[in-house]
Amino acid sequence: MKELEERILKEGRALNEDVLKVDSFLNHQVDPELMKKIGQEFANYFANRNINKVITIESSGIAPALATAMCLNVPLVICKKQTSKILTDDFFQTEVKSFTKNSSYELTISKKYLSSDDNVLVIDDFLANGEASKGALRVIEMANAKCAGIGIVIEKSFQPGRKLLDELGIDVYSLARVKKLSEGVTEFFN
Ligand code: 5GP
Repeated sequence: MKELEERILKEGRALNEDVLKVDSFLNHQVDPELMKKIGQEFANYFANRNINKVITIESSGIAPALATAMCLNVPLVICKKQTSKILTDDFFQTEVKSFTKNSSYELTISKKYLSSDDNVLVIDDFLANGEASKGALRVIEMANAKCAGIGIVIEKSFQPGRKLLDELGIDVYSLARVKKLSEGVTEFFN
């Protein structure tokens, strides 16, 4: 998505070879007009797949996921990041290693909002090692729901996540694919 790439080039900041900050339009301040276009792009790509629910992971996935859910006219369910296990049967839960923090969290979703009737689109802001996406796939599997695909705003293609999800046969649609990061430099795949 050309406009997204231009924003990343203009406002993104590569902290090092691994981490890109896009606080001015996605992760801290959010640009609603850009989110609308992102939502429309995902909705166009995943149209006609009988998606009945969008899921994302708090908190940075929420803005693009809500925009997508609005375009598809389906509910959005936000997976919570709990710090400890919940010891009741009311939730699906799985441990995920955080890319940005040197820690893990329990990806948690209520059984009220995910079931075998669901055909789900997963939306997230970044794809790095694929841990968050794989966690989302695990809770979808726990619920015997189906995953129609994964939409990623910014994929760092040089990190392992993309290959991992391809190997699982998941349809991953990324709006910007970053080939290389180094301090002050961001390169994309065309
Ligand atoms: P993964 O689970 O694929 O390793 O990492 C994805 C999650 O880590 C995303 O949900 C995102 O919140 C965070 N993340 C990964 N890489 C970056 C990055 O370069 N910049 C920012 N801001 N977040 C990232």
